[in-house]
Amino acid sequence: MKIKKIDHVALATRSIEDATKIWKEMGMDIHYEEVPEQKVKVAMIKIGDSRLEILEPTAEDSPISRFLEKHGGGLHHIAVEVDDIENAIDELKSKGFRMIDETPRVGAGGKKIAFVHPKSAKVLLELVEAKI
Ligand code: ZN
Repeated sequence: MKIKKIDHVALATRSIEDATKIWKEMGMDIHYEEVPEQKVKVAMIKIGDSRLEILEPTAEDSPISRFLEKHGGGLHHIAVEVDDIENAIDELKSKGFRMIDETPRVGAGGKKIAFVHPKSAKVLLELVEAKI
């Protein structure tokens, strides 16, 4: 498994509009999309070679709604880019890591993603495969 870089850092918020305001004012390029499978609206802000992801829940039973109830917002997860996600999942499992996703699913931007359980990684960690 090769971790190439931090792909993005994700913040959870009740209002994307509010949370992206400062970045808009700084003239950053913001890409918006909705990921119905995860019941979230996503704003992706490109910052050099990395991105800041801002997540707003679209339903009460969204995982982001539950996170906001518990933590009130802030850092939700860190995502790292890997070259081969199936390979990375197998390697982490063989090392005893607990995966939330044992097989990759489709995340923002149509990329293959998988989450590592925060009990294992100390923070919610997302693996993102570079190629689509
Ligand atoms: Zn993410």
